[in-house]
Amino acid sequence: MSHYQKPPELYDGLRLHQNENTGGCSPKVIEALAHLRADQVGFYPPYAEATEAVARYLGVPADRITLTNGLDEGIMAVSVAYLRPAVAGPVLEAVVPEPAFEIFRFDTAVAGGQLVQVMPKPDFSFPLDDVLDAIRARTRVVFLTNPNNPTGVTMPLEAIRTIAARVPSKAIVFVDEAYAEFAGVSFIPELEAFPNVVVGRTFSKAFGLAGLRIGCLVGAPDTVDAIRRAVPVYSVNIAAVTAIQAALQDLDHLENYLRQVDESKALLYAACERMDLTYWKSSSNFVLVCAGDRTDALVKGAFARGVYIRDRSTEPGCAGCIRIGAGIVEHTRRCIAVMEEVLCAAP
Ligand code: PMP
Repeated sequence: MSHYQKPPELYDGLRLHQNENTGGCSPKVIEALAHLRADQVGFYPPYAEATEAVARYLGVPADRITLTNGLDEGIMAVSVAYLRPAVAGPVLEAVVPEPAFEIFRFDTAVAGGQLVQVMPKPDFSFPLDDVLDAIRARTRVVFLTNPNNPTGVTMPLEAIRTIAARVPSKAIVFVDEAYAEFAGVSFIPELEAFPNVVVGRTFSKAFGLAGLRIGCLVGAPDTVDAIRRAVPVYSVNIAAVTAIQAALQDLDHLENYLRQVDESKALLYAACERMDLTYWKSSSNFVLVCAGDRTDALVKGAFARGVYIRDRSTEPGCAGCIRIGAGIVEHTRRCIAVMEEVLCAAP
């Protein structure tokens, strides 16, 4: 299994290829970081207050939360905790409905697990029956993403309940809610009734903290405890701890971004219709657009004009597809202008 190829380090142009908040974090975060003291940097970081703040924001008791160095670390910890085979034991399986965040695939391999892919339907509606069919005695994790990346499509919460009732007793259902703020739906209120479900959240996207690396896992205390063992003890640094508390005190900044995301998506949909490009209605801060045989020209043409968008053609079910960030309205307008220019210029 090859490993994850990070997108090239491009910071000169408009970054619409990694689902980041291109408007950045709240100014309150920058202010809080500027006030960090030398002694705070000198000590290992305290987590209680930041955990309380995250718990309040998510509406759960603090013992249901583990902070992680980005949700990426949470996914690795879930994989290690659940998919690492016992000595001389059977290979354990992770079920992943595709197309999915590639990290599930890579972390499953790193942990020594076996990937069981479920192929998508043409409209990307959730393939519940196929996921249920893929669950076997050796299944230990079902990786779900709501709303999904790269499609932006949501799945019914009822499907999560059904899957949770069907997995083996040693397995968990992992619900990746990296983009939940944009969709306005979450499984978190139901976790009390589903101790075998763990939700992953990140502050990279809606809160614009990707550079600081902070996310969390949410679930029943015993379940989260088992995963916590696979999280390095002080993996979240003091800057991230400080930033998350400041960010959660400025929900106006979040609301403003969410409003811009809605406006950006409406602009992008209208532009796709003008350019005769197919798209899927997204509940996230990006839109998956099918440009068919114009994909390569569009991605390269936009790149040459300093706008980065992500070719997702090689993902299952995504032939000819490009994922385009739709956040800050001014950035979306620039992207649309470039797309129109490229397609007009194309022979
Ligand atoms: N899950 C999904 C579905 C994502 O798209 C991403 C970010 N690309 C992550 C998790 C990881 O987020 P973080 O920046 O918190 O590691």
